[in-house]
Amino acid sequence: MSERTHHAHEVVVIGGGVIGMNIAFRLAKEGREVALVEPHQLGMGASYGNAGTISDYATIPVGTPNVLRNLPSLFLDRSSPLSVRYRTLPSLMPWLLDFARQSLPAQAEANAKSIGSLLKNASGMWQEMADELGASQHLHKRGCLYLYESHKAFAAAKYDERLRRQNGVEVEAISAAQVRELEPNLSPFEGGAHYFANATSIDDPGKVMEIFAENLRALGVTIYQTRAHAINSDDTPVDVLCDDVVLRASKVVISAGAYSKPLAKSAGEAVRLDTERGYHIEFDMAELPISRPVCSSKRGFYASPMRGRLRFAGLVELGGLTLPAAQHRIKTLELGARAMFPELGEPSRTWFGFRPSMPDSIPVIRPTKKNPNVIMAFGHGHIGITLAPATAAAVSALLRSNSVSAFN
Ligand SMILES: Cc1cc2nc3c(=O)[nH]c(=O)nc-3n(C[C@H](O)[C@H](O)[C@H](O)COP(=O)(O)OP(=O)(O)OC[C@H]3O[C@@H](n4cnc5c(N)ncnc54)[C@H](O)[C@@H]3O)c2cc1C
Repeated sequence: MSERTHHAHEVVVIGGGVIGMNIAFRLAKEGREVALVEPHQLGMGASYGNAGTISDYATIPVGTPNVLRNLPSLFLDRSSPLSVRYRTLPSLMPWLLDFARQSLPAQAEANAKSIGSLLKNASGMWQEMADELGASQHLHKRGCLYLYESHKAFAAAKYDERLRRQNGVEVEAISAAQVRELEPNLSPFEGGAHYFANATSIDDPGKVMEIFAENLRALGVTIYQTRAHAINSDDTPVDVLCDDVVLRASKVVISAGAYSKPLAKSAGEAVRLDTERGYHIEFDMAELPISRPVCSSKRGFYASPMRGRLRFAGLVELGGLTLPAAQHRIKTLELGARAMFPELGEPSRTWFGFRPSMPDSIPVIRPTKKNPNVIMAFGHGHIGITLAPATAAAVSALLRSNSVSAFN
């Protein structure tokens, strides 16, 4: 192997998604010297393709008693919101078993409480972040609807409502007729909805990622377009071994989303991170049929109003990081979209990507045991956009509390 060149930095952040970029932004603003490692264009992973909701109401983990009860039928129905790629089942088993444990009643409630405390003030932090970035024109306080599309599902949603209220979320349970008053272009349905009147959302996640990247460049963050392979954290400074360079740093942050597991392992941490693959389909249109994000709980995706287009984003597919997109999942998304809005024309584009997911839906934000100068910040699952500013604040606090520095 050819000799790699060495460069020294105060902080090296691995991964240029919303989590890594928000951390790099915050640390650079605080006066730290920061380098960011990203093999692709910044912000083009899960942080590009999501539904754009700042879902501070999303205190309910993916794993609940209800999901656990329905898991076999969900897996067997190819058009259900939760599917599995069967050939990946053996490697998924440890994650799935842990997911099943985390879905038991007491554990799910405890997880909801932890998620609820992380989500406190997520919207306020986003507002501040958007102002600092110069991206506040992309943030809208327009509320959000969560549909339960049968009487049975709406009755069962009492569980969700209780958990939400218990964790400080303001939620109104409204009838299907009231939903029609708010969003008259939605196809009629039975049941009802949870209405989060004060929820905030982003109208173009990709554009906001571009604005993040511009800010990082303006702040003088060094960007290495390369892949990190391993972390040697026996001592401080810590070495980050990349394709063509070794980066030596006082502090290293692992924030490579769904790809963080091997990096954490090289730093001595065995984490149960896997991926929930997600999809989106977009329809360009000048006039949007809805004025706020609407989540169909039956179908497992959001209809999200974006700039000049309507995006349908969601579904959960367990299937690892290497298999290509499943065309029937895109078809499922399209059929569901047309059932909600029969007037849709031809789709303009589709996308799929990788949520970084822990079995308990709680992100890993802590130092490694072996070396406190290596911080892990990944596993944000369905709420990574929402939690990005809060995660950056937590990482900054961790770096401050551990002031050991070997820089220079
Ligand atoms: C369909 C869908 C809808 C969603 N909707 C919402 C929503 O409405 N609200 C919400 O809050 N969240 C939502 N999410 C979740 C959210 O998008 C993710 O939690 C979040 O984007 C994760 O950010 P990240 O920075 O950890 O990962 P990513 O955005 O995936 O970024 C990780 C980065 O690390 C890089 N990387 C990988 N390996 C390496 C390496 N070895 N070295 C260096 N860099 C590496 C990758 O190239 C990538 O750019 C949704 C997700 C999906 C898929």
